[in-house]
Amino acid sequence: MQGIIEDLVNELTRLPGIGRKTAQRLAFFILSMPEGDALSLASAIERVRRNARFCRQCFNISENDLCGICSDASRNTGRICVVEEPSNIIVLERVKLNCLYHVLLGALSPLDGITPDKLKMRELVERVKGGNVQEVIIATNPNTKGELTAQYIKEVLSSMPVKVTRIAYGLPMGSDIEFADEVTLGKALEGRREL
Ligand SMILES: [Zn+2]
Repeated sequence: MQGIIEDLVNELTRLPGIGRKTAQRLAFFILSMPEGDALSLASAIERVRRNARFCRQCFNISENDLCGICSDASRNTGRICVVEEPSNIIVLERVKLNCLYHVLLGALSPLDGITPDKLKMRELVERVKGGNVQEVIIATNPNTKGELTAQYIKEVLSSMPVKVTRIAYGLPMGSDIEFADEVTLGKALEGRREL
């Protein structure tokens, strides 16, 4: 008995922010869950590992060729919100901004060798060129890399007939949109300004 619980505790401690104590609490909680719930947790982990790939259009994580957002016919396809990471979409979706997304899979950082060609920048330009896009909302993080990335996007899209806006964060400079609450994010989107 001790062995299998110990194994689970060890696995759980690999997760960020999970210390040994929390891992033990979680392990015993999982043990006490209805079997179906515990197994569906295990299978969700397995499915995400085996089937997760990038959406061919927006680079969100998806099980299919196109992610759920890109294949949602009710979305306003004239608006693309640009983010750094797929996890940012989950946060922004809570605000119910009716739009599509584009994940850059990082932010510009020339000193670390992260140049535009290392990001999904060309793909963004292609999407805008494809027409039908009226607004590109840049929701990169409010820190040096995020600002640099926003300025770069503004420049590469400047010759195209598209409005480029930057969301106004009510967050201290240097923070991460991951940790923004819904109200702050909602205000940030309402207060977006043209670049
Ligand atoms: Zn997509």
